[in-house]
Amino acid sequence: MPIRVLEPELISQIAAGEVIERPGSVIKELVENALDAGARRIDIEVEKGGVALCRVRDDGSGIAAAELPLALARHATSKISALDDLEHVVSFGFRGEALPSIASVSRLEMTSRTAGAEHAWKVGSGAEAAPAAHPAGTTVEVRDLFFNVPARRKFLRSEATELQHITRHVERLALSHFDVAIQLTHNQRRVIALPVATNRAEREERLAQVCGGEFLNSALQIENVAAGLKLSGWIAQPTFARAQPDLQFWFINGRPVRDRLLVNAARLGYRDVLFHGRHPAYVLYLELDPARVDVNAHPTKQEVRFRDSRSVHDFVHRTLSQVLSETRPRGHARGPIAGIAQLVESGQMGFALRDASAPAYLAGPASAAVAALPQPDPEQFPLGFALGQLHGIYILAQAADGLVVVDMHAAHERVTYERLKRLAAGESAQPQLLLMPVVVEVSVTEAERAEAHHEEFARLGFEIDRLDAQRLAIRQVPALLSRTDMGAVLRDVLAELGSNERSLHIQDQGNELLASLACRSALRAHRSMTLPEMNALLREMERTERADQCNHGRPTWMRLSVADLD
Ligand code: ADP
Ligand code: MG
Repeated sequence: MPIRVLEPELISQIAAGEVIERPGSVIKELVENALDAGARRIDIEVEKGGVALCRVRDDGSGIAAAELPLALARHATSKISALDDLEHVVSFGFRGEALPSIASVSRLEMTSRTAGAEHAWKVGSGAEAAPAAHPAGTTVEVRDLFFNVPARRKFLRSEATELQHITRHVERLALSHFDVAIQLTHNQRRVIALPVATNRAEREERLAQVCGGEFLNSALQIENVAAGLKLSGWIAQPTFARAQPDLQFWFINGRPVRDRLLVNAARLGYRDVLFHGRHPAYVLYLELDPARVDVNAHPTKQEVRFRDSRSVHDFVHRTLSQVLSETRPRGHARGPIAGIAQLVESGQMGFALRDASAPAYLAGPASAAVAALPQPDPEQFPLGFALGQLHGIYILAQAADGLVVVDMHAAHERVTYERLKRLAAGESAQPQLLLMPVVVEVSVTEAERAEAHHEEFARLGFEIDRLDAQRLAIRQVPALLSRTDMGAVLRDVLAELGSNERSLHIQDQGNELLASLACRSALRAHRSMTLPEMNALLREMERTERADQCNHGRPTWMRLSVADLD
């Protein structure tokens, strides 16, 4: 074939391939246009998953009659006029591609009226502009999507799936513009109805509608400003982690984006507090000078490029990890979780804790212990004072306003892990020389693993020598672990270091060894504790960062208030 210039219609259809993937993309583009036009109310009607009909009506600025045909022309936009403008663009659109692209793969009609106009005008595929009846604002109607692109049609999924994509786009945009009322109906059935949200309570109501009430209940509201960057929004406590990364919303200057850099930075912020294989949940807004971010990196503008990605990454990561390290026991009403029982049912409790078959009794006469307890000061001792042990698993403590239940393994694991981290970070280790070296039989690979981690072990205060191919001698241990059966712990740790069981974020950080040590040396079930030992653990938890979860993200404690018990 000779080289030739493509027909405009074909160019649009090719461009549509990038921008319009499915009905959800049509809705995204049309709603973005409505928001760019300053709409206060947007009504979206969809039929048959959006394939039969996508209609978006807004009460925005409208389009003047003379410009209406231009809106459907390629590369026609009212949002930028020079390359420089791109540096400061705050509108969703600027490429002037969405409407012509959609029009080239569907039957499109657009009716619009500006505030001062006598009446509205309507334009559409092929037809001349004609007068029409319409209040100030714009309605775009898209029918029979991909009727002329059978290849695309084949990729469409069920009505329900396409509706899900649509809903997702609408929800994301709803979280970017709380001040706009948004409604979505599918086959005449209402799917989303969000009134304008101006105050905090209304915004939280919208948040709960989009992300669920559970999310809102466990959400911490955050805001941090530094070096021209502002991060705000809501992050769920780690105990509300999800099996899917489906509740992660990022907005840059109000634009919903999917950006790996931001997702990774957030994940890093949650490291150490998230259960293995679980995903954090959050709605986060990053604001910065538009010149510091290039939104023209992708046709659908969901991906962006930062000019100084390192500082953005560090800012996000540090902000989240700071907020999350504050999740230690405090006077909050209920403890970090709804109930430990729930986690046992869902199989998230640790292996060591689940096989609790011992009979239930309290250590010591409970009533006497209660009577003798000092009245705990809720500020100073939010976890209260120990009453005894339950099932060899839980510590029961009397707090100012009720009963505190502590998962002793999970709590001890977290406390140990944080102490090991401080040792690894250079806090002077207090090693304890063993009177008799402990000799451990291991496999050849495990012995090699011990050698590979020699430096790390040494930094913590261990002295471990390889005696021969399959034997190690432990001569010295960190004082904080001196009372554990180090031979057994080391064997477990070396076995585990090679496996992929550990959560990735811990591996990322080279904290795998510490986490494994903490888990393996933490108190096992059925280890009986004296009251002073239990109280020491409670005080240690109160001092320890991130003490609300063990490093698998399991909650370490919960509180039942007297009112709950009543
Ligand atoms: P872009 O949004 O990138 O400018 P579009 O093809 O989406 O490109 O829209 C082209 C132009 O049509 C916009 O720049 C805007 O001027 C006008 N327009 C589109 N939709 C609306 C609307 N709902 N209200 C007012 N003007 C609109
Ligand atoms: Mg647009």
